[in-house]
Amino acid sequence: MAFINKKPLTIILGFLVVLQISLFYYYTLSVDREYQALKSDLSSQAIMLTSNIEERVSIVKGVYSFIQTVGFDADPNVINRYLAMAYNNSKHVLNITVAPNGIINYLYPLVGNTAIQDKSLFLESSLSTPGMIQETIRSQTITVDGPRTLAQGSNGMIIRQALYNGDTFSGIVSVTLRIDDIVNQFLLKDTDVFVTKVDGTFLFGNEHSKTGKIITVPIKLYNQEWLMAITLDPQKKWAALRDILFIDFSFILIIAFIMYITWHQRRFNQELERIVSIRTRDLRVSERLYEKLAYYDSLTEIPNRRYFMDEFARLLQSAEPTQSYTLFFLDLNKFKEINDTLGHSAGDQVIKTLAKRIVDGNIPFRMFARTGGDEFVMLFGDLPRDQISVVVNQIRSLISATLYMAGTQLNLSTSIGVSLYPEHSLNIEDLLKFADMSMYQAKMMDGPDYFLFNQELREKLTQKTMIAKNLRSALENNEFVLHYQPQVNAVTGEITGLEALIRWNHPEKGLLGPGHFIGAVEEAGLMIQLTDWVIREVCRQLCQWREDNMKLLRTSINISNSWFYHRNLIENLFSILDQYQLETDILEFEITESTALLEEHYPLLQLMRDRGIVVSIDDFGTKYSSLNYLKHFPVNKIKIDRTFITGIGVSTIDETIIKSIALVASQLGYELIAEGVETQEQADFLIKHECHHIQGFLFYIPLPADEIRKLFR
Ligand code: C2E
Ligand code: MG
Ligand code: MG
Repeated sequence: MAFINKKPLTIILGFLVVLQISLFYYYTLSVDREYQALKSDLSSQAIMLTSNIEERVSIVKGVYSFIQTVGFDADPNVINRYLAMAYNNSKHVLNITVAPNGIINYLYPLVGNTAIQDKSLFLESSLSTPGMIQETIRSQTITVDGPRTLAQGSNGMIIRQALYNGDTFSGIVSVTLRIDDIVNQFLLKDTDVFVTKVDGTFLFGNEHSKTGKIITVPIKLYNQEWLMAITLDPQKKWAALRDILFIDFSFILIIAFIMYITWHQRRFNQELERIVSIRTRDLRVSERLYEKLAYYDSLTEIPNRRYFMDEFARLLQSAEPTQSYTLFFLDLNKFKEINDTLGHSAGDQVIKTLAKRIVDGNIPFRMFARTGGDEFVMLFGDLPRDQISVVVNQIRSLISATLYMAGTQLNLSTSIGVSLYPEHSLNIEDLLKFADMSMYQAKMMDGPDYFLFNQELREKLTQKTMIAKNLRSALENNEFVLHYQPQVNAVTGEITGLEALIRWNHPEKGLLGPGHFIGAVEEAGLMIQLTDWVIREVCRQLCQWREDNMKLLRTSINISNSWFYHRNLIENLFSILDQYQLETDILEFEITESTALLEEHYPLLQLMRDRGIVVSIDDFGTKYSSLNYLKHFPVNKIKIDRTFITGIGVSTIDETIIKSIALVASQLGYELIAEGVETQEQADFLIKHECHHIQGFLFYIPLPADEIRKLFR
């Protein structure tokens, strides 16, 4: 019961005590009521009995007065007649006697009473209780003798009064009653009333055998003192007790039920509490886990971008006015190659290893977080400007330390962009963007490992933002134009093809090259639209040149990866060709190596090739130097990237690469072209190594369509 706290228990116990007291009170009350009822019943019975006996006493008194009046000398017949009359006028009397000098000379009726006729009351002991006659004579008043066994048999009671002649005793008159008559006639029928002596000896009445409490009322009848009694029926007591036990039991049952319900409810609540606490604990564990997942990078176990942003914001919020921060944006160089050649799990392993090296590398950063695939950010507090290069060198040596992965020795490097708080911005997003941009700058520069954000870059950025904003309207307002760069056969000098290169005729900025906006087009999701426009424009231009009776040359179009996700691409493409009534082989699609690598595009590329469109890989060799891939690509042509061309005469590695590409291309039957050829030396080298097709400023720069027409004229 410990589960019930003290208060309710006290209340219940209190209630039970009060209940028991009330029930006990009720019990005594009902027993008492019964007692009182019986007692009053008994009293009325006693009155009835005594008054009935008194009635018989009055007969004795009548006879007494009669004898006193007529005297014993009167004619016996007169006395006898009187007795007969008195007897007949009364009920329930056994006999009436007159005993002059104690001898029963007059007796009525004789029948049934002959046993006492003419008997002397003094001599016949059977006629009275010893001493009773003397008592009658002495008392000079009514006496009652009995109940006793009468001389005539049966049980009776005799009421006597003595007669005197002056002071001298002269006789006794009496009336005898049958006890049976008394019981049957003077007591209420169907009652258990009986009469006892004062000491409790049974005298007459309804013989009782019941046990139980006896209730009495005293009866004083002349010389007799009796008790009229009745037994309190124990059944009544039991009934009262049963009643209260029933009430008690019902109440206890109700209380037990309530307690059971309370207990059950409490148990239920406790169980609920237990479950809730377990769930809460689980929730806290998962919250912590979630927090870890939310704020930490699962691969490297260092903070993630969200953590970095939150924490940086917190730092800036509480920064002193003199506080400065230096933000590094790191990106591994050529990490994609590792992923693509060694697999993603090797890539992950590399990231993990490098992150650990940096964490353990005693670099004085405040925070180091992974923000993307191979991108990390690092924050320094109050790093003097001249220390930037020192830290960069530290990072470089950690990253470039030999790393073996899948049996391959990897030579890793990183590009780092740096932005400064508060110098470059007070805003975290800006600082990150600036560092990111600077990182790209560092990547492009091919020289030092890092680039510190500067004014020039800021202007570029503003321009980029502005461009992104105006792109949509540029498409609608036809602000884009195509320039065409001729491709020549360097051996014969003959123009063999053209490459369409997009320009933006910006209303304020003038003619902008693709470098200014292609990225923004891609970001704005406008690349499909732009490519469609280029294709349509090229076809329109070719159609116009044809109308101008110009010889049509195969024209290549730069196709970005996103265009391949264009719906109804093939249908659109051929409907445009149909519209301008152009042969499919008039078009060449330049795709990047990364597009060529995506096998999902192969069916489309194959379909284009089957329909006669030439597919070439642009900037070949920049991304995936492995020539191994070549044999899988469903393409016709390879464009050697300008970076290798610039290496001619400078780098034997570049020259070797060019030679290898040329060899593999001829063996696999691919057309070959070199772009970005600016010098005769480069052209000569290429011609020598069987790469006759050339595109470059050495021959032509990209020209407007009009210039091309003039060129052909
Ligand atoms: P790309 O496809 O590799 O085009 C060749 C780029 O090299 C052109 O730059 C061209 O002007 C430049 N070039 C040609 N010969 C020489 C040379 O001898 N020396 C030097 N330094 N550069 C030379 P441009 O026109 O600025 O285009 C840059 C890139 O923009 C293109 O590279 C291509 O990837 C992209 N692009 C151009 N037009 C389009 C287009 O319509 N759609 C798409 N998606 N991309 C385009
Ligand atoms: Mg191109
Ligand atoms: Mg190119």
